Amino acid sequence: MEQYLDYFLDAAANPVKEINRWKEEQKGSVIGCLPIYIPEEIIDAAGALPVYLWGGKTEIDRANAHLQGFACSIVRAVLEYEFKGTYDMVDGFVFPSTCDHIQNTSDIWAKAFSHRPKFDLVYPANRQSNYAEQYLTELYREFISWLEVLTGSKADDDALLESIKKYNLHRRLMSELSEIRAKSPQSLTGREMSGLVKASLFLPKDEYNSRLIELLPWLWERRIREKPKTRLVLTGILAEQEIIDIIEELGGCIVADDLARGARLHRNQVDESIEPLAALARRHLSLGPCSTLFDPGKGRGPYLESLCRETEADAVIFINMKFCEPEEFDYPVIKTDLEKAGIPLLFIEVEQQMTSYGQLRTRLQAFMEMLA
Ligand code: SF4
Repeated sequence: MEQYLDYFLDAAANPVKEINRWKEEQKGSVIGCLPIYIPEEIIDAAGALPVYLWGGKTEIDRANAHLQGFACSIVRAVLEYEFKGTYDMVDGFVFPSTCDHIQNTSDIWAKAFSHRPKFDLVYPANRQSNYAEQYLTELYREFISWLEVLTGSKADDDALLESIKKYNLHRRLMSELSEIRAKSPQSLTGREMSGLVKASLFLPKDEYNSRLIELLPWLWERRIREKPKTRLVLTGILAEQEIIDIIEELGGCIVADDLARGARLHRNQVDESIEPLAALARRHLSLGPCSTLFDPGKGRGPYLESLCRETEADAVIFINMKFCEPEEFDYPVIKTDLEKAGIPLLFIEVEQQMTSYGQLRTRLQAFMEMLA
C-alpha cells in the first residue's frame, strides 16, 4: 500500500508530467480551471481532463508588467506560468467569477493570449435569487457548447450522469480521507494529506478513485506517529507545504481544514435523480460557507466552531493569502464568532512566492506554546 501512497505523492510532485502522460495516452483535451468551483463533471463528460490551476512557486517576471501590484500571488503565478509555457499542454481555460483578481486576469488573458480558447463562468452574484438556478443551468449549457467545439466530443445527459456519479464518489472518498485525518491523525502526515489533495486536482478521477478506494482501509489501520497534543483546523484559500511542515515540526497536527484548495472542494453532492445540468446548478447554489460565495448569513464562523467541536480541535489558524479581498472581508466576522465561542484563532499572511518563513515560524511557535 505504501506504493499506492507513493503514486499519489509522486504525481503531486510532478503535475506537468502526469498531465502530459494522460494527454499522450488518451489523446484528449486538457482544460485548465482557475479556482474555484468549476463543474468538472461537465468537462469530464466531454472526454477532457479538468486540471486546477492554483499558481505555485515560480519567480514572477513578465506577469508583473500586466497585473497590478495588489493582485494576489495565485493569479500572478498563473499568468507567469502561461508566459513561461508551463501550460502548453492546456487546450482551453475556464475563468470563474470567483473574485476581482480572477476576473481582471481573464480580461488581461484575452489580450495577452488571444489565441488561447477561454470561457468565462460568470456565476450568479445573488445565489438566493429565484432566477439563479435557471441562469446557471443556461450558463452550463453554453459551457457545454464551448467544450464540444473545443474537444469535438458530445457531453450528453448519459455522459453527464456518469461523470456526476464519478465525482460524487470522489467527494465521498475525499470526505472519508478527512475523517481519517480527524479520527486517526496518527495515520498520515500533513505532507501526505496535502499530496493526496494536490494530486486530486489534476489526476483523472476514475484513476484517482480506484487507487484511493484501495488505500483508505489501510490508512484507517496505519499508525506512523504518536497521538498529537495540539489539534488544529486550518482555514483560508490554501496552505503551502512549508506552513504545514512548520506546524508539524512544532508539535501541531492538522485535524481538519476549511481551505478552498482542500475540504471546500468536496462539500455537497450532486443529485443523481434529476436533470444533470439543473442538479449541478443546485449543488453550486447550495455550497458554502465560503468567502468567494454570496453568504449574507456569514455562516463561516459558526461552521468553524462546529468543525472544531466535531474534530476536538484546540484552535483555528486563518491563513490569509496576501491581497485576497474575499478572505479579508470574512476575517473580522470569523474573529468575533470564534472569540465568542472561546476558540483561539491565529491570523497569518502568506504569498506563494515567499522564501523566508522565519517570522511565521516564530508566530506559530508562540501560538502553539500558548495552547500547550
Ligand atoms: S486568493 Fe483570493 S484574490 Fe486570489 S484568486 Fe483566490 S479568491 Fe481571488
